[in-house]
Amino acid sequence: MSMRVIFLGTAGSVPTPERSLPAVLVQRQNEHLMFDCGEGVQRQMIRAKVGFHKKMKIFVSHMHGDHVLGLPGLLQTMALMDRQKKIEVYAPEGIKRFLEGTREILQFALTFPVEIHEVIDAGLICREEEYTVEAAWSNHVIPGLAYAFAEKPRPGRFYPDKARALGVPEGELWSKLQHGDKVRLPDGQVVKPDEVVGAQRHGRKIVYTGDTRPFNGFAKLAAGADLVIHDATLDDALAENAAEDGHSTPSQAAEESKKAKVKKLVLTHISARYPDTGLLLEQARKVFKNTVVAADFMELELPLLEC
Ligand SMILES: [Zn+2]
Ligand SMILES: [Zn+2]
Repeated sequence: MSMRVIFLGTAGSVPTPERSLPAVLVQRQNEHLMFDCGEGVQRQMIRAKVGFHKKMKIFVSHMHGDHVLGLPGLLQTMALMDRQKKIEVYAPEGIKRFLEGTREILQFALTFPVEIHEVIDAGLICREEEYTVEAAWSNHVIPGLAYAFAEKPRPGRFYPDKARALGVPEGELWSKLQHGDKVRLPDGQVVKPDEVVGAQRHGRKIVYTGDTRPFNGFAKLAAGADLVIHDATLDDALAENAAEDGHSTPSQAAEESKKAKVKKLVLTHISARYPDTGLLLEQARKVFKNTVVAADFMELELPLLEC
């Protein structure tokens, strides 16, 4: 079961002809997880052909317009398309008033429930059967959250040949062993799971920083992540401006990713001053080789991990 990450908007602060405002969509089975919701996101979704009716959660990093103004429009479009399934929205304080206010003033009716979670405390904010989402306070000019989506480990691979060789009859006992329980055979012999099942397989992990300077909790939040999507608004020569505006530079994003031992880094929230992102890429790759710069409609596949 592959997981796909689609960059719907990769601009910082203002859109450009090539870049829409921030939004990243993770497609996993029949669910969409969206990180930030920049203006015009529904048109980007139409172009990416991802549909509007799937189970969905939206995680907003902070309450700056470029990250949240897409939400009322997206909800309205979905209502016009007669969406029925609930949407869950996670965001810092203010999201409730923002959504209720726009709905009241613009007077649009929804065809589906919207469950709003204002995140007051960092930590595990969402627990599902197969994954969790953790939030950590980042370091922007207003309260901001970085998010880590992490799948739970999968049971190890089951080896039918080993089970047969030990005389375990196929059926219920196989299933018990696969789920980590030891079993007793009719002849009294006990078989333990590790005799027929391989080691647990890691789940996949994606971290989305939102707008931020390098921040303290990053290394822990992102440790070992398969993919980190990090703010890199301005290049290294403008590090002072970046710090002032609560952003990061490519080499800062790369340093942080290297420390956290992540597998791949994607730079995003690209300032309009870089129609050519070669410089940003070069600065990051000097520190962390496996880096790419996001582009609108870029897609990354994350295959299941086998170990
Ligand atoms: Zn921004
Ligand atoms: Zn911001």
